[in-house]
Amino acid sequence: MPIRAENKTRYPKDWKLRSLFVRVYRARNRCEWCGAKNGEPHPITGSKVVLTTAHVFDHRPEAASLLNLAALCQRCHNRHDAKMRQFGRRERTMENAGQRGLFGDES
Ligand SMILES: [Zn+2]
Repeated sequence: MPIRAENKTRYPKDWKLRSLFVRVYRARNRCEWCGAKNGEPHPITGSKVVLTTAHVFDHRPEAASLLNLAALCQRCHNRHDAKMRQFGRRERTMENAGQRGLFGDES
């Protein structure tokens, strides 16, 4: 997912190094979820794999702990983000309906 201009200042100053570390050193240029190799045709989609660094558990740009980052191919990254978008829509719908979200205030 490309970094949106309005979010650039929210990423840590060493984001490029973190991203490179995760993709190249830790993941050895392969998707950490499906194993697709960077720069080669994806075994399922056939499109050229371009590894990106994804936020896995916490999607806030500043949540850049290496434990929260994963090197993912487009397919895995899009599927993960789609799940998170769906979860976000559900949370917003519940909030708009006056219901508490999963992590809402219990008081
Ligand atoms: Zn993948």
